[in-house]
Amino acid sequence: MPINYSDHQLKLSLRGSKVLIVDDQLLSIIVLRKILSVHFNIVTASSGEEAISICKRSPPDIILLDINMEGMSGIETCLKLKNTSETQSIPVIFVTSFENQEEECWEAGAVDYIKKPINPETLFRRVRAHITMKIQHDLLNQKVFLDDLTKVFNRRYFDAHFSKMERSALREKVDYALLLIDIDYFKQYNDIYGHVQGDTVLNLVAQTITNSLQRPTDFVARYGGEEFVVVLPHTSIEGAICVADKIKKNVIDLGILHKYSEYEFVTISIGGSTLQPYESNKNTLQLADEKMYESKKQGRNQVCF
Ligand code: GH3
Ligand code: MG
Ligand code: MG
Repeated sequence: MPINYSDHQLKLSLRGSKVLIVDDQLLSIIVLRKILSVHFNIVTASSGEEAISICKRSPPDIILLDINMEGMSGIETCLKLKNTSETQSIPVIFVTSFENQEEECWEAGAVDYIKKPINPETLFRRVRAHITMKIQHDLLNQKVFLDDLTKVFNRRYFDAHFSKMERSALREKVDYALLLIDIDYFKQYNDIYGHVQGDTVLNLVAQTITNSLQRPTDFVARYGGEEFVVVLPHTSIEGAICVADKIKKNVIDLGILHKYSEYEFVTISIGGSTLQPYESNKNTLQLADEKMYESKKQGRNQVCF
């Protein structure tokens, strides 16, 4: 059976879509802009370098890229975008009057190729088709990898990345830390205040953890019911303790009353671990889990490493 999504919603989001037109000829930009600006938001760049910097700052939904440009060519620009993790998922369509370059374009990672002179209807329909696919792909990724309740990454995302990240940190001999966070007396919280209020607390704690992280490579995932896992690449034990203390403080400072708790407010217990390749046959997740239970035993609202 086909997936039933709302046509109306998809049209609305297409209207707000952003198309980046890259060409060193002003006339070409004017022609493309005239056709597409009726349907989409248009941003322009007159060189490959400028296009890359725009994509890093504020990624468009699709790029229309000229091949023959002064300085960095369209092919080089496309290869660079496809080899950079922040920009590799942006679809690129080449627009060119040159023959015999199609193969090069596919090899550089383009999703499509449009020949000049442009047929306005074909251009619009191709761009719309690729933006639709991109939005559907992003929505699917959201569904697959984000937790429905808290909107942080889910267990599936963590599991898909955890071993890879740990192995790469070991190989490159760089620091890497993991925090396992569990809300204290959460069963009692639900019993006293109800599940709806419990869900609100889960959301608040997830946002507080997210806001306590500073590096773009740090991330939090919901590991289970009231448990979260935080991944801190390139972080030493001292740095990780600092982050854990800050998260613990920020959660109690939310001031969410919890009359069952000796701390009066909702608190969390944190277990942390860093890579110890020669000292243990356990992975960082197992070590962090053991430390989290130490935090519980030591009285909760604690950080243990
Ligand atoms: P401890 O301090 O030892 O961690 O005790 P606890 O009560 O937090 O731990 P326990 O594992 O006994 O209970 C976890 C509770 O978390 C059980 C369940 O009521 C609650 N919980 C799990 N997932 C959700 C959820 O999605 N929403 C709500 N509202 N509660 C949840
Ligand atoms: Mg638990
Ligand atoms: Mg708990």
